[in-house]
Amino acid sequence: MKPSITLGRLFGVQIGLHYSWFIIALLITLSLVGHFGATDPNWSRAIVWASAVITAVLFFVSIVLHELSHALVARARGVSVRSITLFALGGVATMETPAPDAKTEFWIAVAGPIASVAIGLGGYALAASLGWSPQAEAIPSTAVLGWLGYINISLAVFNLIPGFPLDGGRILRAILWGRSGDADRATMTAARVGQAVAFGFILLGVMRFFGGAGFGGVWIAFIGWFLLQAAQASYAQVAVVADLRGVRVRDIMSPDCEMVSANMSVQTLVDDHLLRTGQRCFVVGDPGRIVGLITSHEIKGVARGRWARTPLNDVMRPIGQLRTVQPDMLAIDALTLMGREDVNQLPVMSEGKFEGMVGRRHILQLLQARADLNMPVTAKATAPLTDPREASSVS
Ligand SMILES: [Zn+2]
Repeated sequence: MKPSITLGRLFGVQIGLHYSWFIIALLITLSLVGHFGATDPNWSRAIVWASAVITAVLFFVSIVLHELSHALVARARGVSVRSITLFALGGVATMETPAPDAKTEFWIAVAGPIASVAIGLGGYALAASLGWSPQAEAIPSTAVLGWLGYINISLAVFNLIPGFPLDGGRILRAILWGRSGDADRATMTAARVGQAVAFGFILLGVMRFFGGAGFGGVWIAFIGWFLLQAAQASYAQVAVVADLRGVRVRDIMSPDCEMVSANMSVQTLVDDHLLRTGQRCFVVGDPGRIVGLITSHEIKGVARGRWARTPLNDVMRPIGQLRTVQPDMLAIDALTLMGREDVNQLPVMSEGKFEGMVGRRHILQLLQARADLNMPVTAKATAPLTDPREASSVS
């Protein structure tokens, strides 16, 4: 969900648009043009198009309000929210941390569908006040409001399907969690139900496609495929988190990071150290004072012809700019931090002293070793090692 455009902030929550959103925005506008064009043949093209564009905009405002209600309830209960992103299949509210208890999870999850039902009923009520009824002839304003009423209620119903990571799946998870007290088990069960629901969607989509529904069938199958991926990822993430419980940075970091001097040239580093040892990360400075870090990534940024003339001091990442971690930090927290900072490794520092490096690679090796011995709950080396505790809600 990374490549997106930031639209701005609402109540302190960053609102973004993923590029895939533009495709769905276009499709929805076009299908609304078809819908309004068929509502009343006497409407001019301009009125049909204006109604379609206004409806599409209001629809996306509805989705933002749905996500915002998840976000605001989360914040009111002490869970900070990073952003809301709209993408091809709806919206996602990304929390900084998972819900601390089942009750909080329940209220965060239920807030979105409640908002959608409220918007839907509001749309119908407003349409009725303007003279809309099933028998009455539609005018553009009541047609727009009627459609918004219908789509928001549908959105709430769809989201209440109890398959994780849909809101209904989160509600199911919260209920299971509240009853058993075991958050991990609850997530795994909800994710399993989510996979079953996803398979159902794929099957339904394929059947409708061969039944002649065309694009509509493909779309349902696609939503199913997306839900399947998300449910599987949630399941694997829980497994990773469970596997890493109690593991600290100290346990997995590599302390043997070679130290090189700040005025060494890039050429010397490559010839005498990097190519000779195969090591990819070097600490720059003296034993008493670390000034920076250099990896093959920084070296690649320097033209080969300038290697001999460029001291490491000019290309290294200064230590002040790096996020560092403590040896007793939990490995899972370090992994979350790597995901957030979008880096593969972090320097480990203790009281200003460099202790070593910890990377995704170390965590992956640990998981793999445990999987080889059949030690973990359900280790999957292919589990997405990015921000495993990031909580998202898909709508
Ligand atoms: Zn939702």
